[in-house]
Amino acid sequence: MTNHIQTITKLLATHDIDALLLTHLPHIRWAVGFSGSHALLYIDAKGATLITDGRYANQARQEVHDAEVVIGQLDLLAALSKVLGSDRRLGFQADHTTVEEHIRLQQLASTELVPLNGLLQAKTLVKSPEELELMRAAQSITDTVFHELLKIIKPGMTEKQVAAEIVYRQLRHGADTMSFWPIVATGAHGALPHAEASDLKLTNGDLVVLDFGCTVGGYCSDMTRTVAIGQPDEESRKAYQLVLDAQLAALKAARVGISGVELDTAARDVIQAGGHDLPHSLGHALGLEIHEWPSLRWTDKPLPEGAVVTIEPGVYLPGKLGVRIEDMVVLTPDGVENLTASPKELIIL
Ligand code: ZN
Ligand code: ZN
Repeated sequence: MTNHIQTITKLLATHDIDALLLTHLPHIRWAVGFSGSHALLYIDAKGATLITDGRYANQARQEVHDAEVVIGQLDLLAALSKVLGSDRRLGFQADHTTVEEHIRLQQLASTELVPLNGLLQAKTLVKSPEELELMRAAQSITDTVFHELLKIIKPGMTEKQVAAEIVYRQLRHGADTMSFWPIVATGAHGALPHAEASDLKLTNGDLVVLDFGCTVGGYCSDMTRTVAIGQPDEESRKAYQLVLDAQLAALKAARVGISGVELDTAARDVIQAGGHDLPHSLGHALGLEIHEWPSLRWTDKPLPEGAVVTIEPGVYLPGKLGVRIEDMVVLTPDGVENLTASPKELIIL
């Protein structure tokens, strides 16, 4: 298993701090494997200490690697004050700390607080071989369930009934949980990129947006496919083809070293040339969290080898329809490894 504590310990010198406090649970899981919902991770030159409460005593002993475990009361900061050395410059995750926690940290005697933002984002972006295996496994379940859905989706089903099948089937195939609640949006409802599955019925002539994923070992999959219920009209076919062309253009452009904004532009240009807008970023990184840094449209930093990002252009016509196609890819020197195996030609059910 990759030792991420060594990576984090190197950051102490980079930021001129004696110790670091992690408060963001996905980062704590990334660092030492703990999957519970209440913990702090304290790291100094001597090593790492995970602080949690009694509910997680056994779980922490089973899961945690590369760190000591301290079982405190529900108030974890009280336990931290006993672990913390004296006269320290303590870095903390300013973007993952509450105002109350900050006040409490200020009260710790002889500690100088150093606020840090985006501390681990460049580290968690690059996936290890073990992390990639879990993401491949999660996406494989998602692909299997999409294949099954094609056999059961029928006109007259509600969006919620389709969402229920997605949840049930992903769990049946071994998922731990959902990456996020499935998006099932039919007809005009599909024009809302983040529509919630409703009681709307799938009707002949509709395009249905299906955006879903699951987790394996904590790691997320994320895929969108848009299918037609009965024969789609000309406008629907054109919108579908445009999104597919944009998605393929971005997949072709993607490789190590391209910046997020350059990759976003590769798809956005195609959508705009077709007379439409892309109202959201082309995609996002993901891993232990469904949305990780960066959002492609908003970074000009080059994407490194091993980064996993989604490529998900869409076209949304208010009152009419929505189309989105999303794959999850790993950046490699010659292009990408596409983790998504589901077909992309327009499927008519
Ligand atoms: Zn998605
Ligand atoms: Zn996504």
